[in-house]
Amino acid sequence: MIDYAPLEAWFVTGSQHLYGPDALERVRANAEAIVAGLNGSGALPVRVVFKAVVTTPEEISAALREADAAPNCVGVIAWMHTFSPGRMWIGGLSALRRPLCHLHTQMGRDIPWATIDMDFMNLNQSAHGGREFGHICTRLGIERKVVVGHWRDAAVQQRVAVWLRAAAAWHDSQGMRIARIGDNMREVAVTEGDKVEAERRFGYAVNGYGLGDLVAHVPAAGEAAVDALCEEYAASYTMMASLLPGGPRHSSLREAARIELGLRSFLTDGGFHAFTDTFENLHGLRQLPGIAAQRLMADGYGFGAEGDWKHAALVRSMKVMAHGLPGGTSFMEDYTYHLDREGPAVLGAHMLEICPTIAAGTPSCEVHPLGIGGREDPVRLVFDAAAGPAVNVTVVDMGDRFRMVVSEVDVVEPPEPLPRLPVARALWKPRPDLETAAAAWIHAGGAHHTGFSLALTAEHLEDFAAMAGVECLFIDGETTLRQFRRELR
Ligand code: MN
Repeated sequence: MIDYAPLEAWFVTGSQHLYGPDALERVRANAEAIVAGLNGSGALPVRVVFKAVVTTPEEISAALREADAAPNCVGVIAWMHTFSPGRMWIGGLSALRRPLCHLHTQMGRDIPWATIDMDFMNLNQSAHGGREFGHICTRLGIERKVVVGHWRDAAVQQRVAVWLRAAAAWHDSQGMRIARIGDNMREVAVTEGDKVEAERRFGYAVNGYGLGDLVAHVPAAGEAAVDALCEEYAASYTMMASLLPGGPRHSSLREAARIELGLRSFLTDGGFHAFTDTFENLHGLRQLPGIAAQRLMADGYGFGAEGDWKHAALVRSMKVMAHGLPGGTSFMEDYTYHLDREGPAVLGAHMLEICPTIAAGTPSCEVHPLGIGGREDPVRLVFDAAAGPAVNVTVVDMGDRFRMVVSEVDVVEPPEPLPRLPVARALWKPRPDLETAAAAWIHAGGAHHTGFSLALTAEHLEDFAAMAGVECLFIDGETTLRQFRRELR
C-alpha cells in the first residue's frame, strides 16, 4: 500500500537571458546531465524529472504552477546554474505549495586551474546565483531544504534522497484518511488535539467511527477466510501450541483472525491509511485487536492506541518515509525504566500493538490475559526489537501550534531473556543519556506514545516537519538540558 513508482520530483534550473542562447543551451544540457546522473546513481528513491530552464518571471510562475497541479509531483528541486535574479521568483515561489529543495551545486566539481577564463566563470555561477535565490526564499519566508556540494557526491545524493522520502510522505499525508474507532481513552490529554488545525497543517482528515461500524465487517469474514488466515499465521510465526488447530485456545486464534479480516475490510472500504482504537470502547469485539493491529502496521497502516490519531498519522508518514529501507517502523510507548547507574535504559512496548517489522527474529504468536479492558484474552505477536540506532518521534498539540520532538536512541539486546513478558518490546539507551533525554522530552511536553523507527534518521523528520511548517526539537548526542530549555523558551 506504499508505492514510490508513480512519484516524481521536478528539477527546475534558474537562469536569465543575459548570457545569450548558446549559454542557455549549455545550461540546459548541463541540467539534463545532472538529472540523468542523479537518477543513474541509484541513490534516489523517487525519479527526478528535468522540467525547464526558466529565465523570466512568467516562465518561473508557469513551471511552479504546473508542479503544484501535477498529481504525482512530490516537490521541486531548484538549481541556479547561472545568476537568476531573485525578483523574478517572487510570484512563482509565493504561490508554490509543493516542498522545495534548493540544490546548491555546480556542474563541474573542480576549478580547471589551467584553463579557467571568464567564459567559464560566467557559466558556473551557482556560488553567487544560489545566494541570490536563497535571499529571496528567506525574504519570502519559504521553507526549503538547502543541499550544498557536488551532485556526484554520495553525501549530497543522500541528503536529496532523505528529502525525497520526506516529500513522498508529505504527498501521502495530503488527503490521508484516518479512522478514529471508539474515540479517546477517557481523561487522557496528549492523545487529544485540534483535528481542524491538523487537517490544515498536515493535510490529513480524522473522523470518528462507532464500534458498530467496525463490528459490522467482522462476521462478513467467512470461515474459509478465517482458516486461510490461521494457516498464514502458522506459516509466518512460531505458534504457541495451544493456539494450533485442535488446541484448547484455537478458538482465540480464529477470533483474532476474524477481527483482522474485519478491520482490513473496514479500512479498505473507507480508503483509510491509518486508524486508532481504544481498549475502553470495544463493544461487539471479543478481543482488543492485537495481532490485527500489528500486522496491519506491518503492511503500512498507521496506528495509534487509545484514540491517538496524531501518532497514527505519524506512524503512517514514517512508514512512507522508510519505504524500502532496512529496519522497521512501529507505534511505540516508553513503558518502563531500567535505572541502574551502570546502564540505564528504557523498555519500550505497548499492551499489544508493536509492529513486527522491527523484530530481531521470528515473532512468537501467543495468547495471554489482558489486565484491562474486560474482554477475552487477545492474541498477539511477541518479540524483541532488532538492535541498532533508531529514532523516537512525537507530535503534540500545544494549543496554539503543533510541536514535533525527535529523540535519537540506540536499541540494544536485552541483557537477559524476559520469559514472562507477553508483549513485543524494544530496549534502548537514549542519547546523550537517559537522564538528559527524558528530562528534555518531558520539558518539551512530548507524548508517552511515539513513532519509532530503525530505518529513519532525525534528518527525515526534520525535512518532514519543515514541509508541514511545524517546529521540530532534537534530543541527540549533543543535547544539554540547559541549552534545550533555552531553546524551548
Ligand atoms: Mn498507550
